Amino acid sequence: MILIDGKQTAADIKKEIAAEVEEMKANGGKTPHLAAVLVGHDGGSETYVAFKIKDCAEVGFKSSLIRYEDDVTEAELLAKVEELNNDADVDGFIVQLPLPDHISEQKIIEAIAPEKDVDGFHPVNVGRMVIGLPSFVSATPDGIVELLQRYNIETSGKNCVVVGRSNIVGRPMSILMSQKAMNATVTVAHSRTKDLNELCASADILIAALGFPEFIKGDMVKEGAVVIDVGTTRVESDQTKSGWKLKGDVLFDEVAPKCAAITPVPGGVGPMTRVSLLKNTLLAAKKEIYK
Ligand code: NAP
Repeated sequence: MILIDGKQTAADIKKEIAAEVEEMKANGGKTPHLAAVLVGHDGGSETYVAFKIKDCAEVGFKSSLIRYEDDVTEAELLAKVEELNNDADVDGFIVQLPLPDHISEQKIIEAIAPEKDVDGFHPVNVGRMVIGLPSFVSATPDGIVELLQRYNIETSGKNCVVVGRSNIVGRPMSILMSQKAMNATVTVAHSRTKDLNELCASADILIAALGFPEFIKGDMVKEGAVVIDVGTTRVESDQTKSGWKLKGDVLFDEVAPKCAAITPVPGGVGPMTRVSLLKNTLLAAKKEIYK
């Protein structure tokens, strides 16, 4: 069984990005610049944005953090998005989700200029991805494709089951796996899927993205399957200082012995998601998607 090491792979990619940035700067090029907009003080969002800023520093990017309190109006946020769209120094930016209920996330996403939408959430980027045009791809599915490719996992002609159909993980994942670069035969499962156990057990590649800790048990996985665990749920723990630990969607101890390869949680998909945002920002700075 191969333990797919997302942490090491992400570290390798960061080194590659840092080397490229150094070269760009040495040639008189612009320093890539990622801006992040954070609304409120949600613990998870604070942590994610702090990681993004730290990652930028590690690879030599410039970053900016723009903070608002929970009571910021939708109009104020839209005005900031417009300002960032027009700021020539900012190559790409993200608005950290979730947003407070009085703000329409979709309105904010659609206000971001597609060429600066390094989260890949804008319908133009999603549409371009669907038809196979260059696009910013949502970070988690992009990171998973990169992991599969770097581990030389054969996907062509394989049966791939993706459990989950969210706009940021399951759906784009299923589309990417079905495209010519991957050539898998894909089934998307969700909460209304019947006979999910049998369906999962038929998968050569099983991608679990439902957000239900340890949902995928040993009897739901075929001998020799490749299992990608996207889930990250914080569960209470008296073994950690923080009082919680991260659990994946896969019951690792039961499933791993049956697998040809599997990602752990933590240290699998999570670090790849972080590095994919850096990849997208570099692409934005190099104007490689929208020339
Ligand atoms: P989400 O928006 O809540 O979507 C969950 C999906 O799973 C939905 O499509 C839902 O079906 C499906 N589902 C829920 N319960 C199910 C069940 N019992 N059987 C079959 N399908 C079921 O979640 P998400 O944003 O995609 O995230 C999924 C997980 O990945 C979460 O744990 C999240 O924290 C994690 N995540 C990790 C990373 C990372 O970097 N590692 C990044 C993003 C997300 P319906 O559509 O029918 O409701």
